[in-house]
Amino acid sequence: MAGSTRPYNFAPGPAAIPEAVLREAAAEMLDWHGCGVGVMEMSHRGKEFTQIAAAAEADLRELLAVPAHFRILFLQGGGLGENAIVPMNLSRGGQVDFVQTGSWTKKSIAEARRYADVAIAASNAGSADSAIPDPATWKLRDGASYLHICSNETIDGIEYHVLPDLAALGSKAPLVIDCSSHILSRAIDWSRVGLAFAGAQKNIGPAGLTIVIVREDLLGHALPITPSAFNYQVIADNGSMYNTPPTWAIYIAGLTFKWITAQGGVAAMDARAAEKSALLYAALDATDFYVNRVAPSSRSRMNVPFFLRDESLNDAFLAGAKERGLLALKGHKSVGGMRASIYNAMPVDGVHALVSWLHDFAENHG
Ligand SMILES: *Cc1c(COP(=O)(O)O)cnc(C)c1O
Repeated sequence: MAGSTRPYNFAPGPAAIPEAVLREAAAEMLDWHGCGVGVMEMSHRGKEFTQIAAAAEADLRELLAVPAHFRILFLQGGGLGENAIVPMNLSRGGQVDFVQTGSWTKKSIAEARRYADVAIAASNAGSADSAIPDPATWKLRDGASYLHICSNETIDGIEYHVLPDLAALGSKAPLVIDCSSHILSRAIDWSRVGLAFAGAQKNIGPAGLTIVIVREDLLGHALPITPSAFNYQVIADNGSMYNTPPTWAIYIAGLTFKWITAQGGVAAMDARAAEKSALLYAALDATDFYVNRVAPSSRSRMNVPFFLRDESLNDAFLAGAKERGLLALKGHKSVGGMRASIYNAMPVDGVHALVSWLHDFAENHG
C-alpha cells in the first residue's frame, strides 16, 4: 500500500476504517470479483452475496472464538435499537438488572423500562472518579432474566477490563454486554456472556449493521409485540436474511475482519490497544495542563476523554490539531472537553502524532 497522506481521524463513531479496507472497497466498487456489478447492487440472496455474508460470519466467529452454541446475527437498528430489542427478546416481561456506568447504560435503562421491570444493581453516578463499581457490591435479583452492562462506555471513557463472573456472584442471570465501542479490541470470555451486541460504526465498519452474538438457549422467548424483523429466533432461523440485511455494511465488515486477521487477529488488536492507550494516558498524566477524571483501573483503551485545565484554550487546541491533520477531537456535547477515540483502525503513529501535539500545545500555553 502506498504511504498515506490522509489525516488521523479520532472520531467516536462513525469512525475511521482501515485505509486498506477503503482502498479494496473502492477498487471493487463497480465490479465485485468479475461478476459485473458492485456489492451494493446485487441480490442479498444471490450466490455472490451469500458467499460474502457467510465469509464475514465465519471470520468473525474465528476472530472472537465464538463457541458453536452461540449464534451470530446481522441486524439493523444500531446499538440504541438493541436497547429495546434485547428486552423484547430476553426479558420475558419480567425483571432486568443493570449496572449504570455512564451515558450509554443510562440510555439503555430508560429504553428497557418500557418492556421490563428494571432495577439498578449498582451505579457510579456521582462518584468523583467514575470507576466501575466492584461486582462484589452489586445487588443482583434472583429473578432477573439478565443483567445488562456496557463493557465500554464510549462517551465517558470507562471500560471493563475483565467481564464480571455472574455465576461466581451467585447469580444465574445471563450477562448481556453492549460492546459496541470495543468489540474486536480484546478477547471475549464467552463462558461469562449470554449475549453481546455491537453497532458496527465504531470498530467494524459503516453504520447500519448491528451484530448480535447470542447463546442459543436464550432464543425463542420474544414478547408477542416483538417485530418479526427483530425477533432473534426468526433472524437466526433465516440466517440473518429474513428481510434484506444491510448488505454493503456486511461486506465492509467482512473486509475489516480479513484485515484484522491479517494484522494478527484480536490478540494483535489487544496489544496495539494497550500500547496506544498507554502512550496517550501517559502523555495526559505527565502534566496537570490536561485532566482525565476516570479511575485508572477503569480507563477505556478505545475512548479517551480529557479536558484542558484552562478551557478557554479549547478552540485553539482543536484548530491547531486540525492543522496537524488530527481530526475530530472535540468531546461529546454532554461532557465537553476533548475525546480521542483510538479504535483498531487508528495506527500507533496517529497516537504518536497526537501525543506530540499534546506536548507542544502545553509547552506553548502552559
Ligand atoms: C454508539 C453506541 C451505541 C449506539 O449506537 P447507534 O447505532 O447510534 O444506535 C450504543 N452503545 C454504545 C456503547 C455505543 O458506543
